[in-house]
Amino acid sequence: MNPVAEKKPLEIVREALMQLTSRKLAPTPANYAAVYNEIAGIPNIPPFPEDALRSIARELLAKTPSQIQQKALFERAIDENNWAAVQKSLVALATYANTDTASGARSTAIGTLPSSSVDMLEPLARLIENTLPAFGSDDTRLSEQIEQLIKAIREPVVEIAKVKSQLANVSHRLSFAAEDQAEIKTTLLKLLHLIIENIGELSMDDGWLKRHIDALMLAATPPLTLRRLDDLERRLKDVMFKQIEAKGRTLEAQEEMRLMLATFIERLGQMTESTSSYHNKMEASARRMEQAKTIEEIAPLLKDVISSTHTIARDMKTTRDELQDMREKVNASETEIAKLHQELNTVSAQARHDTLTGALNRKGLDEALEREIANVQRQETPLCMALLDIDNFKKLNDSKGHSTGDAALTHLASVTRESMRVQDTLARYGGEEFVILMPDTALDKGIDAITRLQRALTRSFFLAGTEKILITFSAGVAQLASGESGQDAIKRADQAMYLAKRAGKNRVLGA
Ligand code: GH3
Ligand code: MG
Ligand code: MG
Repeated sequence: MNPVAEKKPLEIVREALMQLTSRKLAPTPANYAAVYNEIAGIPNIPPFPEDALRSIARELLAKTPSQIQQKALFERAIDENNWAAVQKSLVALATYANTDTASGARSTAIGTLPSSSVDMLEPLARLIENTLPAFGSDDTRLSEQIEQLIKAIREPVVEIAKVKSQLANVSHRLSFAAEDQAEIKTTLLKLLHLIIENIGELSMDDGWLKRHIDALMLAATPPLTLRRLDDLERRLKDVMFKQIEAKGRTLEAQEEMRLMLATFIERLGQMTESTSSYHNKMEASARRMEQAKTIEEIAPLLKDVISSTHTIARDMKTTRDELQDMREKVNASETEIAKLHQELNTVSAQARHDTLTGALNRKGLDEALEREIANVQRQETPLCMALLDIDNFKKLNDSKGHSTGDAALTHLASVTRESMRVQDTLARYGGEEFVILMPDTALDKGIDAITRLQRALTRSFFLAGTEKILITFSAGVAQLASGESGQDAIKRADQAMYLAKRAGKNRVLGA
């Protein structure tokens, strides 16, 4: 036990007064308290100078938001009698006095950061924040680490050591996540290739499909951009559309087979009903029986008749059973065909393509427009749209027939697909009217592109049988104005098209 601690308070008081005198210390309360504590063996903690600190706080000038924040921290430290916090906020305030720019930089740091580095903190936090979506939300640990790091960077007082270690952690984990993302992308692409290949294998006899499968494979190669993925999606939908069409053809073939089978069975039924060979045999046996003279001669004949009757009875039963079996099978496939038809109807209702030309239909156009307008807003690129109307189409229909008219529509669609860029979209807007969306295209370039299409159509004659027919169109081109809806821009293109008709057809006008 400490002997000093055993001293009585009176003895301590006396000794303290003696020490004050012998050490020639001024008789202030603070000096007395210090000597008293020393003799009593109590640690000498001076009282927290709250009032003095408050008067300093009142004098402190805080102009920028960061200084105001530090001053508030300083005042809170006084409230809590917290020396460490007092020191921290004062140092921070002093650093601000040196580093704050006129605009008022946000942060300072323990360990003094130069003002240029302080300015970098917020952009750094934003940069890290912006990388978050790229890594999805699968890795919760990474998301947490990033959130903590951003929080640490945005602390009023940035602790450089803490930020440094968190940054190292995040960057370590991020390197793995980035590798994962790259791997996922490659694997998804591989899968996509497999699927496309598989679709191709299923119906390689179709030339159109083969070309599209090749284009799909090409579109599904890195580097992947959003536009490329859009294009890929559109092409896949086209191929699916073609597959549906093929399915329709298969159903037709099945139906034909069913009819053939039914006829065959019917005929088979008629054939067994007549059982002519049995009748012939019976007749022959009857005749031989008439001519028989003895019972011995009749006996083998009777045996023949009985055995033939047995055979025919057995044959007929087998045939009847087989017939029954086949009828049931046909009934079952009839039900299956009806079900497939039902499915086909559902798929058609979701179709985005026009059956005749393979171009997008109105629904497909609406979707494509929405996508392109979103691109315009995101990337601030121009979007052009053209409305085409075939000239004198009614005359063509009237003189050459409706199916020639149909073939002319298909011809226009295929010439358009061949001569426009891969990112341009063709949609059938109405009977003989088409809309072409041209992303990344300003008005003058859009007019040029449609004029080129017009020339391409002139060069590539449309064959009705052996007769070469020239089809022309009139078109209006409009560039989407800011804040304008897709439908309104198409309306303007339509008005320009109407003027092109009035001006003599076979021409392209800008709206
Ligand atoms: P203009 O040069 O002024 O455009 O005259 P037009 O004859 O082309 O235009 P109009 O609007 O008078 O006639 C369009 C015709 O297109 C009428 C319609 O029967 C025909 N049509 C619409 N859809 C189809 C289709 O799918 N197939 C065929 N063969 N004809 C169609
Ligand atoms: Mg028309
Ligand atoms: Mg027309």
